[in-house]
Amino acid sequence: MAELNNPYAAEKSTWFKEEGEYGRWFKNNEGFMDQWLDETIDTLDELPQVVRNLMGKISGGGIRRQVQAAINKMKNAAEERGIKIHLQSAHRDFSYQNKIWTKKFNRFTNGGDKTDVAIHRIIEYSTIPGTSRHHWGTEIDIIDANQELREGDKLQAKFFVEGQAYGALKNWMDEHANSFGFYLVYTNAPGRKGFKYEPWHYSYAPLSKIYYKQYNEKFEEIKKVIQASKLKGHQHITDAFLDAYQKTHLMDINPELT
Ligand SMILES: [Zn+2]
Repeated sequence: MAELNNPYAAEKSTWFKEEGEYGRWFKNNEGFMDQWLDETIDTLDELPQVVRNLMGKISGGGIRRQVQAAINKMKNAAEERGIKIHLQSAHRDFSYQNKIWTKKFNRFTNGGDKTDVAIHRIIEYSTIPGTSRHHWGTEIDIIDANQELREGDKLQAKFFVEGQAYGALKNWMDEHANSFGFYLVYTNAPGRKGFKYEPWHYSYAPLSKIYYKQYNEKFEEIKKVIQASKLKGHQHITDAFLDAYQKTHLMDINPELT
């Protein structure tokens, strides 16, 4: 149904066929998020509709078109230097994030952690559903697909250093990412709090700075939506917990993105 109202649907499905590599991120996408966000960037006044859309609950969502265009340009430039930028993850909606949350929560509590300990372990790297920047369609987790890596979890900081599988990718990104609009979010700046260093996670600043502002302005309402979602361990996800989490995990990021 959303497709009928979406002026970009046709364009997007054409693009989707051409760029099969990104297909999985658009698989269930009817384009509603794109349309909605493009139209309402300046006026976010209709909650909880706004909150639901920012969290990607209504449709599958997807990468913003503007972000995809920048990725394509950056990919082409990197390819000339022998680096094949591959998206390990890009847009994730609320329910997907909740699957990550639930899986980790169960693993940690089954392993003997108390529920509050489990939550603190999860939020070293993973967000509370509803608070992921990946909901916005502006974020990418990348690797170099030209490098063979057999280890299961490719997104580990130890691979993104000189001499390791993704060292060349990281060096190239250090030099060029900003010129395409992309910035690391969770840097290794001394004293930064919140999520640990993620040398693979980039944000498309021209859009994500706008969403960041909107998101934090609406955080009181977003808190209510998160709490109503009854996540695993929700008894610990109080107002005070979320207020502290906002300051450390959501706002203590690369200052270029705030
Ligand atoms: Zn990420």
